[in-house]
Amino acid sequence: MATQTQAETFKKLVSHCKEYGYIFQSSEIYDGLSASYDYGPYGVLLKNNIKEYWWKSMVQMHENIVGLDAAILMHPKVWKASGHVDAFNDPMIDNKDSKKRYRADTLIEEHMEKILAKADKEVKKAKKRFGDSFDEKMFRETNPRVQKYVGQAAAINDRFNAAMNAGDLAAMKQLIEDEGIVCPDSGSRNWTDVRQFNLMFGMQFGALASDAEDSTVYLRPETAQGIFVNFLNGQKTTRQKLPFGIAQIGKAFRNEIVARQFIFRMREFEQMEMQFFVRPGEEMKWYDYWKNKRMQWHEAIHPSSKLRFHDHEKLAHYANAAVDVEFEFPFGFRELEGIHSRTDFDLTEHQKLSGKKLQYFDPELKESYVPYVVETSIGLDRMFLAALTNALQDEEVPNAKGGMDTRVVMKLHPVLAPIKVAVLPLVKKGGLPEVARKIFNSLKMVAHCQYDEKDAIGRRYRRQDAIGTPFCVTVDFDTLDDNCVTLRDRDTLEQVRIPIAELEAKITAKLSFTHLMAEE
Ligand code: ATP
Repeated sequence: MATQTQAETFKKLVSHCKEYGYIFQSSEIYDGLSASYDYGPYGVLLKNNIKEYWWKSMVQMHENIVGLDAAILMHPKVWKASGHVDAFNDPMIDNKDSKKRYRADTLIEEHMEKILAKADKEVKKAKKRFGDSFDEKMFRETNPRVQKYVGQAAAINDRFNAAMNAGDLAAMKQLIEDEGIVCPDSGSRNWTDVRQFNLMFGMQFGALASDAEDSTVYLRPETAQGIFVNFLNGQKTTRQKLPFGIAQIGKAFRNEIVARQFIFRMREFEQMEMQFFVRPGEEMKWYDYWKNKRMQWHEAIHPSSKLRFHDHEKLAHYANAAVDVEFEFPFGFRELEGIHSRTDFDLTEHQKLSGKKLQYFDPELKESYVPYVVETSIGLDRMFLAALTNALQDEEVPNAKGGMDTRVVMKLHPVLAPIKVAVLPLVKKGGLPEVARKIFNSLKMVAHCQYDEKDAIGRRYRRQDAIGTPFCVTVDFDTLDDNCVTLRDRDTLEQVRIPIAELEAKITAKLSFTHLMAEE
């Protein structure tokens, strides 16, 4: 099979999502709203399963983590205290010829990636030339061309970080000019100055909205602040001692300058966040704990080769350590989750602005203090995209005529798969549908099932493969005599004959979340 380029793989994934009811463009009949998407019949099930996996492993598995569902709309002062009103900006730049708008930091980062890709190309070429005897580490350290590219990228990175840390927009523009970065659309270098753009969606609240600055209510740009302002409510009502955490799943909104790459960067998205409150001075211990714990969570679903850590060089104003879990999406390794040590910044700022104490009395130390916080923050939509990226495959399989066919299969982990079992009568007559319906009606009590009697059995299998259904149960004429059915495994294509009475136990064993928790 010819290998696909990254762009082709991504395009296929997007059209598969539409064709098989995972994701639709929002307001499609009005030609869509850019970067807004609706989750379809299978998409919503997958999304719910991801949420459940996260919730179970964070809340159910930790007796010192409790849940919360805070309102999206919060008091305007929340965003003043958190720093979002003054500092939740992205640097933007316009190209005067194409009139296209870009994030200046993204332009520079992509430029660096291109340079590093040249180094990778040299390594790939050498690997091919030297075969098994190739020592990649040595080659990277000594090859002059690789060294040149890596050095170039590092020099740009240093200037970039210095400009970002100082908030020096002129230096950022200078870097774009010095590097000769061109507009991806027009190819021109005719740039405006770099300006800051606040990412929060502001709106007027209620009928009596005035022009006063504090009457602007924002759609929350992160779920975390709902947790901070509820820190004492959560702690006291559940009588928790530190360390303890509050977890929340909910929508967040950011007026991204450029929203793209499908559901990777949207203006409305969903986050799964957990804030872990700890004793000051113990935050690095818990930062390391959560860093490992979260990676294990990902590795229970995804191959390790598709995951990596990326330490932040430029820290947000509230953080003293930060790392991303990156996943290899069809467009390269990108942030999937952030783990941040947020110090006592948020609670202290809320304490100052609200005038309310947000302190914990530590019975062991016999003193009160503002806790430090370690945060884990994952984008649900990005996790969805990661799961699909990993699962969707074209596979060569033997056909009935002794040749090979290509099947499109979505190898989602059974726990995440939207439909768990398809129940299929071999033909639509001879009493088979009645038996199949009976099996369907009993299995649907324990798992999300589908009944399908249309088309030839082969086509029905292919349809279930494309949706990602891990098990198909086929009822044939022998079933009427022996009370056995064929159980087909999506991944191995193995077909085993088992008694109807054993179906439920066999299937539910594979669908249990305990597998994932144990692997974690
Ligand atoms: P990026 O650098 O990609 O803009 P970020 O560092 O601003 O992301 P965080 O503020 O750390 O993101 O948000 C936590 C998580 O929320 C991210 O790891 C990501 O999975 C998700 N997320 C952030 N912005 C978006 C978005 N516009 N669309 C979808 N998911 C998002």
